[in-house]
Amino acid sequence: MWPFSRKPKAPRSAPVFLTNTLSGKKEQFVPLKPGVVTLYSCGPTVYSQAHIGNMRTYIFADMLARLLTQNGYRVRRVINITDVGHLVSDADEGEDKMEVGAKREGMRSEDIAAKYARMAMEDMQKVGIDTADVLFPFATGYIKEQIAFVEQLMKLGHTYRTRDGIYFDITTFAGYGKLGEPTHHTHKEGSADTLSTRIALTEHGRIKHNDEKRNPADFALWKFSPIGIRREQEWPSPWGRGFPGWHIECSAMIKALLGTEIDIHTGGMDLIPIHHNNEIAQTESLTGKQFVKYWMHVAFLNIGEDKISKSLGNVVYVSDVVERGYHPLALRYFFIQAGYRNPISFSWDALAASNEALNRLWRIARELKSETKGVSVSSEIADDIRRYLNDDLATPKALALLWETVRDDELSPKVRLGVLLAADEVLGLSLSEPPSFSRVSQSVPADVQSLVDEREAARGTRDFARADELRIHIENRGYAVEDSPTGVVIVKK
Ligand code: AMP
Ligand code: ZN
Repeated sequence: MWPFSRKPKAPRSAPVFLTNTLSGKKEQFVPLKPGVVTLYSCGPTVYSQAHIGNMRTYIFADMLARLLTQNGYRVRRVINITDVGHLVSDADEGEDKMEVGAKREGMRSEDIAAKYARMAMEDMQKVGIDTADVLFPFATGYIKEQIAFVEQLMKLGHTYRTRDGIYFDITTFAGYGKLGEPTHHTHKEGSADTLSTRIALTEHGRIKHNDEKRNPADFALWKFSPIGIRREQEWPSPWGRGFPGWHIECSAMIKALLGTEIDIHTGGMDLIPIHHNNEIAQTESLTGKQFVKYWMHVAFLNIGEDKISKSLGNVVYVSDVVERGYHPLALRYFFIQAGYRNPISFSWDALAASNEALNRLWRIARELKSETKGVSVSSEIADDIRRYLNDDLATPKALALLWETVRDDELSPKVRLGVLLAADEVLGLSLSEPPSFSRVSQSVPADVQSLVDEREAARGTRDFARADELRIHIENRGYAVEDSPTGVVIVKK
């Protein structure tokens, strides 16, 4: 089954423009094969829980897939699950993140991977990502393909062997670094008495294996298990027991699942200098053809002024959003207020405002649906919204026009509903099926909250006269009360 089988609303010929990191420019999208798009997104490293920054990147890919579907394309999607080989440092050093996770939780890597992959998928669904028709391959499920890929690179003369692994020699690939200047991470001395680096320590206790690299940006395709140590995750290979380097999984899985030339590849901007330049080097060295037609990258979500980081203790998860009483789709609303190429900064106040705005949109959607009995009509405004979204996913512009439209009483409810539905096909805010959000918004002031509680109590004792009186008090304070089968919704009027 193809993803997003809903009937496309816009004509197939509507042009779509995307910013391509490869050219640094906005380009008109033309697929490799008419009517079909192959779209690959770098997915989670499943050694810990995916955070809301990761979700920003996945939501972007979801909107992109919806946009292409709406424009009449059939989209074949893959999001990989990295469950081996992603080392703590980008310079092929330090422990494997999966080993870190397994040790931390006293579990096997395989179980850690299964646990966090499942959680990531559940979180993706909560923030409105359509996962049903996305393939989620695990890197450990494609070891054979990765070994075969490295063997071919070896035959073509792109590799060399050091004491700790097989490396790609970047000087053998003329176009190395097409996406942007690679940053070379140098190792920190003394940081590394770990499983995968122990082998490389010399008698002086210094890490030596980097010295065997011919160029600082050369990268590991296959790493050997340290002599005398059994890694939990290791496989036989023509070069001895070991495990794949991080970058090879994407090249090998893309080749296996989508082909050697694909339309779009997405990820966060952090992946540009090393991971994606390395993916290009591997695949294009093998095929001699252009690997990806459009590279698209999402700017980072920060927390306040800071990077999301465990060491700063500021990591926010979808589960935190839910625990604080916000709907997870409020996060999606928060993200789409900015263009995907702009860094954004998260705060709980900003999320509260998004939560409120989204609840207001849901209330309007419910009203319009009941006024129109669900019948909507097309309009130029709906076309304008589609045009904005087709223009490199200009979500802030689309959202602004959406608000302007739904507030315009001079437009017929059917037109307004049509605009709301058109926007939602790509935005994915559940405006077509507004959920009954049963929890009271966190940002409701305490006095309003106590009126709400009192009203609930009155309803509980079937004192409806008192409940109605309290509703008026709440409304006088600027809040609307909506009762749903699952509870009460309070939204700012
Ligand atoms: P990881 O699980 O670290 O391999 O990251 C998964 C995806 O999330 C990659 O595409 C990263 O580029 C992206 N990513 C990581 N951190 C952030 C962030 N703070 N904001 C946006 N995207 C991010
Ligand atoms: Zn990747």
